[in-house]
Amino acid sequence: MKKIAVLTSGGDAPGMNAAVRAVVRKAMYHDVEVYGVYNGYEGLMEGNIKKMELGSVGDIIQRGGTILYSARSEEFKTDDGQYKAIEQMKEFGIEGLIVIGGDGSFRGAAKLTEKGFPCIGVPGTIDNDIPGTDYTIGFDTALNTIVNAVDKIRDTATSHERTYVIEVMGRDAGDLALWAGLANGAESVIIPEQTESFESVVAKLKRGQERGKKHSIIILAEGVGSGVEYGKKIEEETKMDTRVTVLGHIQRGGSPSGYDRVLASRLGAKGVDLLLENIGGKMVGVENNMVVYSDILEILNTKHNVNMNMYKLANQLSI
Ligand code: ADP
Repeated sequence: MKKIAVLTSGGDAPGMNAAVRAVVRKAMYHDVEVYGVYNGYEGLMEGNIKKMELGSVGDIIQRGGTILYSARSEEFKTDDGQYKAIEQMKEFGIEGLIVIGGDGSFRGAAKLTEKGFPCIGVPGTIDNDIPGTDYTIGFDTALNTIVNAVDKIRDTATSHERTYVIEVMGRDAGDLALWAGLANGAESVIIPEQTESFESVVAKLKRGQERGKKHSIIILAEGVGSGVEYGKKIEEETKMDTRVTVLGHIQRGGSPSGYDRVLASRLGAKGVDLLLENIGGKMVGVENNMVVYSDILEILNTKHNVNMNMYKLANQLSI
């Protein structure tokens, strides 16, 4: 391949820019031309495609968001939309595409590959909900954002006797909540994969109060439901003053952590290597600190599992 393209799609995640940079620089290192597609699949169908230079990705490794922007497109889900996208790339002489995004974006990449246009997926989402990789780009940064926020809540909490419910992101996955629960020493972690019974959460809060605990922290994954509703129920049941914080989109922003920058650099570069070997339809990932790749279709048919040993540990440490 002599010309490839890169796009970011779906929900953005810190570290996507570092991945774009790695794709551009690694391709150029191998004398391959790289094109940046703006606004995800929407931009791909419209031909919003620009040639990237070494300088196009200068000074972005530390920036959150994505310089290529992201978008969602219904039209691209149709065969017509996908053929339109392939036509646009052919006009530029582009022969392969790297898609940085989540599972929805990978469905699109699989469809293009099926239609004869090789694509490689690079997992970029804060949710860590993609099989075939131990970590997704953005997870570590989002985790650290949560950890810092909960630390601050804890500081103010020490002066009051209160229960705090903190709702964190993660879509249907409990990874962010679980890791944050362990990292913040939360009393309870409520995740969609294994919801601790309400009675047990309440019993734990009461035990803590009897022991003279000043405050308790409950971390709830958004996939379980509303933190505000959960907080109301807790207050009704325990009669303890309860406050709810929904961390929201601050979790998606910010400068990527060192780990995410390194991960993005490794995965972006591997994506280029695969395309240059004429391999498409794969997603790159990291397992046991080794860069690996697997079939996108297989990944899309596999369920993401949260680490239940860690869940057990979180409960053991919060007795
Ligand atoms: P994420 O990649 O973060 O999971 P989405 O689920 O919103 O985000 O997917 C991003 C885009 O990928 C969608 O707007 C759509 O254009 C494309 N996409 C999603 N599902 C499919 C599908 N089944 N076939 C083709 N394209 C899809």
